Amino acid sequence: MKFLRAFTARKTSPLPAPVVMTLAVDGRDVAITYKRHVSARRFTLRAARDGAGFIMTMPRRARLEDAEDFARRSIGWIRAALAKQYDRQEVADGASITFRGASYRIAATGRTRGHVSEDAEGKTLSVPGHAAHLRRRLTDWMKTEAAHELDMASHKYASAMGTAFRKITVRDQKSRWGSCSSDGTLSYSWRLIIAPAMVLDYVAAHEVAHLIEMNHGPRFWRLVLRHCPHTRDAQKWLKHHGNALHVL
Ligand SMILES: [Zn+2]
Repeated sequence: MKFLRAFTARKTSPLPAPVVMTLAVDGRDVAITYKRHVSARRFTLRAARDGAGFIMTMPRRARLEDAEDFARRSIGWIRAALAKQYDRQEVADGASITFRGASYRIAATGRTRGHVSEDAEGKTLSVPGHAAHLRRRLTDWMKTEAAHELDMASHKYASAMGTAFRKITVRDQKSRWGSCSSDGTLSYSWRLIIAPAMVLDYVAAHEVAHLIEMNHGPRFWRLVLRHCPHTRDAQKWLKHHGNALHVL
């Protein structure tokens, strides 16, 4: 009887609900779900199966602060795990990828010659080349598209704000979406072409505004907000989905 009572008591005391918190990894927010488990003896971190962040299993009575601390100390591991996830994105005939904020299907033409072509209505990207080169052909084309869009957006904002830039470079910037140097060069990440158009547009407004205000002070933000009304939406998008730009 004594045993049964103890057993019942243990069974009915519920585990606290999982808590989701974000951890900044290279300037981006990564979601970590902290889950208590009756039989857990230590902290264990693993990638969520659906690709949505990470799961931290923790002992029933451990302190959340200690679990957070463990996550912070595991940033190197998280970074490597994220890189592995990105590599998993398949570029093959029939696979789907995100481009201009929409889901596109890849159609391999099977021909060695020809250019990548976009069917915006049918949401298809036709990619020529051998299967092994599809990724390269596709990303090269995306870089060209990104450069074109970023050039247009930068010119638009430069003339609206009454300023001028020297040149634009489009690269694979890992940690920043854009930057502006004191010599008037605007640099952007080509990956912005994966995001919805309003996000790329905002980053251009942001960098062009730096030609006038080389800081993030109130005057800078007033300038950006006056010319780019979707600033807040774009910032929110980057905060929550910025990681997805690294899938290719
Ligand atoms: Zn800035």
